[in-house]
Amino acid sequence: MSDDHASHAISAYGSRINQTPHLDRIANEGMRFNHCYCTNSICTPSRAAILCGTYNHINGVTTLDTPMSSSLVTYPKLLRASGYATAIFGKWHLGDSPEHHPSGFDEWQVLPGQGEYHNPMFLTPEGPVTCRGYATDVITDLSIDWLRSLPADQPFALMCHHKAPHRPWEPDTAHAHMYEDEHIAEPETFWDDYATRTAAAYAARCQMMDLTETDLKAPVPQGLSEEEEISWRYQRYIKDYLRVVASIDDNTGRLLDELDTLGVADNTIVVYTSDQGFFLGEHGWFDKRFMYEESLNMPLLVRWPGVVEAGSVCEEIVTNVDFAQTFLDAADIEAPLAMQGRSLVPLLQGQRPNDWPESMYYRYWMHRDRDHNVFSHLGVRTTTHKLICFYNDPLSQPGAQGPADPPEWELYDLEADPFEINNLYGHPDQEAITATLTTELRRLIQATNDTPPPCLG
Ligand code: CA
Repeated sequence: MSDDHASHAISAYGSRINQTPHLDRIANEGMRFNHCYCTNSICTPSRAAILCGTYNHINGVTTLDTPMSSSLVTYPKLLRASGYATAIFGKWHLGDSPEHHPSGFDEWQVLPGQGEYHNPMFLTPEGPVTCRGYATDVITDLSIDWLRSLPADQPFALMCHHKAPHRPWEPDTAHAHMYEDEHIAEPETFWDDYATRTAAAYAARCQMMDLTETDLKAPVPQGLSEEEEISWRYQRYIKDYLRVVASIDDNTGRLLDELDTLGVADNTIVVYTSDQGFFLGEHGWFDKRFMYEESLNMPLLVRWPGVVEAGSVCEEIVTNVDFAQTFLDAADIEAPLAMQGRSLVPLLQGQRPNDWPESMYYRYWMHRDRDHNVFSHLGVRTTTHKLICFYNDPLSQPGAQGPADPPEWELYDLEADPFEINNLYGHPDQEAITATLTTELRRLIQATNDTPPPCLG
């Protein structure tokens, strides 16, 4: 897993700006999920949803400021109890104090908080250690060393969790000059003026002009017009992002090669994903948090020799809440009833259960978060539409800030408007679809045991 790696920066997903041959290998030898969605597009909550197989209102990890209790049931704990050796190396970001340290792992070595790209410090059961080198290389080395230490035929579950490509996008020396003489094309919606949108889009501090000198790693040249400066900032941002991704790709290749060398590749499920998506200049933004497509969509590539057909594609809606049950199902372990997802194993086998969900539920809790000022919202995405309610209320969530503002709604027809430019909410000809989606949203709130905000109560 990586941190903030948008699927549209993976060539297997048709990236128009970079090549990722090693990640593509997983897709070519396995299955690519085209509609894997994050139920709360931000680091800490997504990681908790993945580990626990529950929505954030159930596991309590609603915002960046809600560390995960180590007493919660997670899939690594259940795998370990069934005889799997378990380990996690790299990004944890679910709390740094002892009551939040990784539990359910035979071995762990994790970055405190966001961690550093260069010469990172790690938390370990024996205390902090500093490793020389570049985080993506070091995390892969730790993973490979652990794999080599296992007895032959020992079942294992390894979580190799990169810090990259999280802000501030610091490349290693090997990739520092990639793209130097190239111009990366701006995305189609780069100059979005938010003409049909609600207040949230205008308020978000995710624009190119919000990138700091630390992000840009150079002073802004003198004498540029505002438009020229925005374009210059995009080039600085996207090139460093892609350089950092290139290192993930190389290290993924190393890890895949190691599975071959160890002779376990044929009997190992390999999963590549990221904790959420990311804006790569779409709508003029960097960052995530919003329920819009680029941020909502997670990469999900799964190689499972003998089960998954090579080069297959899944178009069904799946979410990060489904991961835990999938891993348990693959290991023939019964999932606890409290888990709220569905095993993806039938989809991986090329079957579609008749009652597979045709919608997903989203909720971002951290109203006016200190860094990006994104408003709290919830919504439903179906195979054709998206309804978003910006309920604009901190609801006393840690890290959320007031005051509350009146709720506002957005509606998108994803078939006619895949880039989500035309908010159709309130249009007279949209009443029927709005009613259907509102009913579905209420059903999902109830089905996931969530408490609706006042405007939907
Ligand atoms: Ca993240």
